[in-house]
Amino acid sequence: MAELLKGIEVVNGMKENLSSRVLELKNKGKSPCLGIVRIGERGDDLSYEKGAVKRCEGIGLECKVFSFPSDISNESFISEFKKINEDGAVHGILVFRPMPKHIDEEAIKSLISPEKDMDCMSPVNIAKVFAGDDTGYAPCTPQAVMELLKFFEIPLKGKRVTIVGRSMVVGKPLSMLLLKEHATVTICHTKTADLEGECGKAEILIAAAGVPKMIGASFACKGAVVIDVGINVDENGNLCGDVDFESVEPVAGRITPVPGGVGTVTTSVLAKHVIDACERA
Ligand code: NAP
Repeated sequence: MAELLKGIEVVNGMKENLSSRVLELKNKGKSPCLGIVRIGERGDDLSYEKGAVKRCEGIGLECKVFSFPSDISNESFISEFKKINEDGAVHGILVFRPMPKHIDEEAIKSLISPEKDMDCMSPVNIAKVFAGDDTGYAPCTPQAVMELLKFFEIPLKGKRVTIVGRSMVVGKPLSMLLLKEHATVTICHTKTADLEGECGKAEILIAAAGVPKMIGASFACKGAVVIDVGINVDENGNLCGDVDFESVEPVAGRITPVPGGVGTVTTSVLAKHVIDACERA
């Protein structure tokens, strides 16, 4: 049986350090604060927001939610966003994406101060991730994968890692973070000729494709570490990953569950970014 890599263990492992850093800041008269910016009432945004607020408050970090109606005009939103961006009491900002089509998301990416950009929207932070410069903020999900690998002491140096997915939210930035740790990274996508073969070579296989249960037992080599970033809904309306857990688990050495794996760690990374931002401010 594969060892389960549970996100909650990573969260608990990070908690003490994060709480003590918040306390230290408060003793210096600084109160770290995350601004969450949401347009409309999308279910997945609301559930992430609920989890983020709970996680942040659990370590003493303040959260301010700035919510706007989905029909807010582009001009009004940009003007409101500028105020949040300039608010000295807000140290970090998370903006839910995708934004409604009539909102100029590109303008927001350029407007957001890189020092407050907690989920790597700004081209400055993206460039830093690709340059291996950790003075910026990597996107929370790829960073959560790195925290999980670090917590469970999974060696990366010289290891063959295959990522399925090349999005700017997960696959590409994650490949850069892994490369920085000296992994040998293969990135797969819909045009990859032999996906099963590429995955089968991996000592660490990371699925981030957004296709329910697409990674079956024939994709994983015996004893591989299998990290499932996917969050999907299956035919019965249940949450599932990109990995077919039932069939891959007997082959894998270590495996993350969905739910309860990578997704659980992302809000702790968000909180960590806000504390970093407050310490640097
Ligand atoms: P995305 O933007 O849709 O990108 C999916 C990537 O997977 C693309 O690069 C695509 O290739 C590739 N892909 C799709 N189907 C494939 C297939 N059959 N074979 C090979 N490659 C395939 O998705 P995303 O935003 O990166 O998200 C990926 C998954 O992670 C989703 O399930 C999402 O819900 C989840 N996610 C989880 C968290 C979390 O907190 N755990 C956060 C963000 C996302 P092409 O480039 O060729 O199209």
